[in-house]
Amino acid sequence: MVKDTKYYDTLGVSPSATAAQLKKAYRVGALKYHPDKNPSPEAAEKFKEMTHAYEVLSDPEKRDLYDQFGEEGMQGGGPGGMGGMDGSDIFSQFFGGGGFGGFGGAERPSGPQRGKDIKHTISCSLEELYKGRTAKLALNKTVLCKSCDGKGGKNVKKCAQCNGSGMRFVTRQMGPMIQRFQTTCDKCHGEGDIVAAKDKCNACKGKKTANERKILEVHINPGMKAGQRVVFSGEGDQLPDIIPGDVIFVIDEQPHKVFTREGDDLYYEAKIDLLTALAGGSFAIKHLNGDYLKIDILPGEVIAPGEIKVVEGKGMPIQRHGGHGDLFVKFEIEFPEANFATEEQLKTLEKVLPPRAPLGIPKKAEVDDSCLLTNVDPTKHKKSRATDSDDEDEGPAGVQCAQQ
Ligand SMILES: [Zn+2]
Ligand SMILES: [Zn+2]
Repeated sequence: MVKDTKYYDTLGVSPSATAAQLKKAYRVGALKYHPDKNPSPEAAEKFKEMTHAYEVLSDPEKRDLYDQFGEEGMQGGGPGGMGGMDGSDIFSQFFGGGGFGGFGGAERPSGPQRGKDIKHTISCSLEELYKGRTAKLALNKTVLCKSCDGKGGKNVKKCAQCNGSGMRFVTRQMGPMIQRFQTTCDKCHGEGDIVAAKDKCNACKGKKTANERKILEVHINPGMKAGQRVVFSGEGDQLPDIIPGDVIFVIDEQPHKVFTREGDDLYYEAKIDLLTALAGGSFAIKHLNGDYLKIDILPGEVIAPGEIKVVEGKGMPIQRHGGHGDLFVKFEIEFPEANFATEEQLKTLEKVLPPRAPLGIPKKAEVDDSCLLTNVDPTKHKKSRATDSDDEDEGPAGVQCAQQ
């Protein structure tokens, strides 16, 4: 019984569809709604939905998860979710391995050991770390069998051969040397105890453990930082005589397209036009919560290229203490194109702007006044200093002088 049939409905198949039927349904739909074939926005939306549904249903693990928990169970998988936290990833993480601290010494230490912690990276966008979110993640874990309480059955007896340690020593002669090996007890198969076949627990067949799927809710609080941990104490695998370890999620921050984070502060690069930089005006920043900040530059304030200003209290939320860090804005000024004004208009500018800087050539110096500026031609000029510019017209202008 599936919880939710939406993805199946999207593809137009029944929840019992085989992998081949799913594939066919997707291919037929994709041909019909692909943006190349059908440019309408409804078709684009339908195509996206179908692709997402097929992504989930074509992966047996994700399909299983979807069938049991519906779309909720898919959180962390689909678009806009937590990067890298898809089903297969998390299951291999939780279910692989199986080492439990190891039985390092010659004898099993008395008293229960602590199981291994399970660590997983949870990749968050800067938006998620700003707003906070709850991620529901499926955890496939080993638990003690509930029917037999992890004992394996009735009338459980301590193994006489290994005295309950599950390990025994074997002495072997190799030439002149006598070596002592430690090996798993063959009588109890390392269990340390023995249950007669008729007394074995029906539910776990004497294995003592069962698999359980559990959904953990990871709360990512506003302002959390990379490297911070969310710990689920004792949620690791349960095994007989073992204290379960913890499940630990470590926050990782994805790089953002426009904002850079430093602690609680944010950095932003704004591009404004020359008129706004000189005469004032406004510009907008789309913030991490989706709201826009309208920022005013006062007439006469004058913003220089590369200048950095601060919008106080518009950085990241500060955990526990409340409030926000600051938002630093670095300005890039967009200059007008060549010949943007007539000679007459430029004369007006001359009246408004501060006067030109003096030339600075000493009176008696010899002056070559035949120099002209030309545009840089990479095939003709050495551009050794222009390596860090990614924009063609940002290269330094070449200076060409007549021969002496
Ligand atoms: Zn059992
Ligand atoms: Zn034994």
